[in-house]
Amino acid sequence: MTRLDGREPSTLAQDTLQQWQAGSNNSLKGRAVFDLCPKVHLKRLHGNFYINQLITGHGALAQYQGKFFCKDEICSCGKAVEDRIHLVFHCERWQGLRDKWFPANYSQLSLLQLLQNKTVRTALQTIMKQKLEVMLQELPS
Ligand SMILES: [Zn+2]
Repeated sequence: MTRLDGREPSTLAQDTLQQWQAGSNNSLKGRAVFDLCPKVHLKRLHGNFYINQLITGHGALAQYQGKFFCKDEICSCGKAVEDRIHLVFHCERWQGLRDKWFPANYSQLSLLQLLQNKTVRTALQTIMKQKLEVMLQELPS
């Protein structure tokens, strides 16, 4: 079947994916997601309210709060900017959860690999929930 524009549907889909990839490669936006998934595709990276913050680098992460709301970007541990890599791999505040729920070789895995591990996702949701609870408690009443 040929479309009105003369292209086959499969060619149209390929062209669209190539344009999307080129736009993704050259964009300054969405870099957190691009770092996780540099090749565009039609599969979904399933998250939820908490995991999406780690996929995108947005939300309760101090780095994001600093960039958009002029808050302190330094993690409450005081050792680094709180980005998703610090939070997931390095922050001492969450070492107990990592010891309990992460695979022993977690430091050799990518963030994407960890986000695909159901047990790790549960631990990361717990971390993000606790972060949000602290943020809500710090709001002026
Ligand atoms: Zn920290």
